[in-house]
Amino acid sequence: MSNYLEGLNPAQREAVENYNGATLIIAGAGSGKTRVLTMRIAYMLQQGVKPYNILALTFTNKAAREMRERINSILPYSALRGMQMGTFHSVFCRILRAEAALLGFPEAFTIYDTADSRNVVKAIIREMELPEEKYKPNEVYSRISLAKNNLILPDAYAANAQLMEEDSYTKRPRLCDIYKSYFARCRANGAMDFDDMLLYMNILLRDHPAVVEKYGNLYQYILVDEYQDTNFSQYLIVKKLASIHRNICVVGDDSQSIYSFRGARIENILRFQKDNPDCQIFKLEQNYRSTSTIVNAANSLIEKNTRKLPKKLFSTNEDGEKIKVICCQSDKEEGMRIASDIHTTMYTKQAAASDFAVLYRTNAQSRVIEEYLRSKNIPYRIYGGHSFFQRAEVKDMISYLRMAVNPRDDEALKRIINFPPRGIGDTSIERIEQAARADGVSMWDVLLAKTPSEMGVRGTAVKSLGGFISIFQEISARSSSVDAYNLAVEVANRSGVIQHYRLSKAIEDESRLQNTEELLKSIKEFVDSEPTEGEEQERDKSITAWLQDVSLLTDMDSNAEDNTPRATLLTVHSSKGLEFKYTYIVGLEENLFPSNRGAETLDNIEEERRLFYVALTRAERRVVLSFATSRFKWGSITPSNPSRFIKEIDPRYLEMPLGLSASATDDDDDDMPIHRKTYNSNFQQPTSLTTPRNEPPTGFKKVVQQSTPTPSSSQDLAVGKRVHHQRFGEGVVTNLETSASDTRVTVDFVQGGEKVLLAKFAKLVVV
Ligand code: ATP
Ligand code: MG
Repeated sequence: MSNYLEGLNPAQREAVENYNGATLIIAGAGSGKTRVLTMRIAYMLQQGVKPYNILALTFTNKAAREMRERINSILPYSALRGMQMGTFHSVFCRILRAEAALLGFPEAFTIYDTADSRNVVKAIIREMELPEEKYKPNEVYSRISLAKNNLILPDAYAANAQLMEEDSYTKRPRLCDIYKSYFARCRANGAMDFDDMLLYMNILLRDHPAVVEKYGNLYQYILVDEYQDTNFSQYLIVKKLASIHRNICVVGDDSQSIYSFRGARIENILRFQKDNPDCQIFKLEQNYRSTSTIVNAANSLIEKNTRKLPKKLFSTNEDGEKIKVICCQSDKEEGMRIASDIHTTMYTKQAAASDFAVLYRTNAQSRVIEEYLRSKNIPYRIYGGHSFFQRAEVKDMISYLRMAVNPRDDEALKRIINFPPRGIGDTSIERIEQAARADGVSMWDVLLAKTPSEMGVRGTAVKSLGGFISIFQEISARSSSVDAYNLAVEVANRSGVIQHYRLSKAIEDESRLQNTEELLKSIKEFVDSEPTEGEEQERDKSITAWLQDVSLLTDMDSNAEDNTPRATLLTVHSSKGLEFKYTYIVGLEENLFPSNRGAETLDNIEEERRLFYVALTRAERRVVLSFATSRFKWGSITPSNPSRFIKEIDPRYLEMPLGLSASATDDDDDDMPIHRKTYNSNFQQPTSLTTPRNEPPTGFKKVVQQSTPTPSSSQDLAVGKRVHHQRFGEGVVTNLETSASDTRVTVDFVQGGEKVLLAKFAKLVVV
């Protein structure tokens, strides 16, 4: 027996050695599920199972690569040759190409990514002349995706009373027609989208018994990691393929199911037991990843979920440090403290940057963290996503700003001329471009010089072009009279981008909205930033200067591909299955984590809790949780409440900030810091699951009003009044200038002299 089996505990070893038949391994985080799956494959290969008879399905390609490398460290490469290992999409794409003819697809079918798919949906909606406010392409696409993942084809959709009713409820009676047309168009284009790949795989296996025979006999051993996050379509494929040899091993943790919004179903675990009544079930109860404190804390949290399979999880590792909770006044302070904690730990613990991970609920939160890591010279990378300024929605907004300062920027124009959708189709854009090329001028110039019909543009685009032009004429007229931030806010609003995201119900649009908000915030910080020492006092704070900063930053970011150890920044969703020595979970605030959407129903809140469980269980040695008592949201500093999840962890495992305690009772000590009162009160008030969206949980508003010195409204401000500013201290108002959007206050501060501030943000308190 070779060594690798000795690195397994008895339960793990049993799960590795009994590789025939149906096997279910449902166990808690860090208990070695992935390790068992990997070792099981190595063991099977050693026992003489042919590599090409093995199919292993993972959640990411990276996970498959790592698994293969691990096996390769035990066995020679030749022993692995022909083994199928990868994501559902990568593995089944190969089969679909081989069998494309049976489905009436060309072998070289195109794969539409999400953006392509949306464009097709968009085009159809336009051609059908449906109003885009009702038929938002993103929402329509999400509906179609959900239908496909539940194997509901267009005709069946029409016959499905429940779906039809839901759509007529949202007043989209033609959704089924769009689906039908989208489905037909993809076929006609010889293209499959991501959902199609799984759907057609099912159709293939349903209609062609010979195919089931062929692949069922090829893949005699099928293994699936992260089984809790498979959707119905994936479940059925696996079931069909395993129907001949019935050697199927699925591994997962119901407490880590975090993709239900994409159609994943925890019930697949229960279905598996039903489908395979004779299946062997292995329980792995020892966590090897984390300290006892982390495991116990995670257990105490997940206990709060009502929907879960009973299981134990313990660690014999040392107790380790308590989970530190950091309370910050703002997200900037949060970024700063986390960066300095990482910095200090790197020195005190001789740790490499790669030992650290910062986990957040939404992508938008990465920007501030990035900024402070850069200021401390800590190398980092963003995992599973683009750097903030490379995100599509951020680029869209940047294109607007580029156009605002230079309307002749053709690339920016092409990106936004039809975003948000205005009914200016590709053909019109092509014609405008042709006209511009013919005259040797920019597209903007030609738009001003020629009528649409002179360019060959017809239909709805004609009117839309007029609207597009006037947006930029207005914006450029304003650009010299307002500062960069106000200009950006006007652009965001005037362009209709904000409205577009706000009205959409698609999950992705919520994060796009947040990212757009983050972008505006970064411009605000740029405008407000004080010149650092050595810098000339009159720093250029125009939008052009900001745009230049950003493009240099983007260049720097794209050079990140090297071997430098880097801290990892990632969303909790993409942290699944990974482990790091030190983790920071940031933004633990109500309406952020749990998210807004999460607070709506019990199902959602339980999914958010599972998500937090995933986050907590990534760390080996140390977890730090942080929250900010205020966050910059839509032009004002909004107070935020600590997440209910902090309270749900047994306080024995937590180290609260000085003066704070999760279980402490409220008292009347007036010297208490403001945030302490807020914090305690929130912890004492049971937060209702039915709290309406965007409303702070019960009890918060009241407490804030009592204990925070309310910033004075601009009406209270007058020349000569003494005011207090959080950062600059005391001063006297020397001038007030009121515009439509805000009041500019000039204050002569005792320390620091005269400063011009926007009343909306300055939070000045009259003293
Ligand atoms: P997750 O639920 O997060 O996906 P998991 O159950 O898949 O976790 P693994 O990633 O396989 O757990 O293992 C967690 C860590 O524990 C890994 O570093 C792994 O190498 C280690 N480990 C697992 N089993 C043992 C063991 N018997 N002895 C020592 N270390 C182990
Ligand atoms: Mg795993």
